[in-house]
Amino acid sequence: MKVRVDPDACVGHGRCYVLAPDLFGEDENGHCVIEREAVPPGLEDAARTAVDNCPEGALALIDASA
Ligand code: SF4
Repeated sequence: MKVRVDPDACVGHGRCYVLAPDLFGEDENGHCVIEREAVPPGLEDAARTAVDNCPEGALALIDASA
């Protein structure tokens, strides 16, 4: 599983890096920065929670085997 962010859709609510700080960080404007694109075992639920809670739909999960 991988996470992706659409930088054009992200407006910097910050929910992703609050909900899953091991996967996401922020740039100087508060926009999402992917810290770990490949989601490690044990962080999949956190990744899903972050994706589901992005108000802009800027995050996506990708099946790494696809
Ligand atoms: S929750 Fe969505 S809009 Fe907010 S910083 Fe994260 S990716 Fe960007």
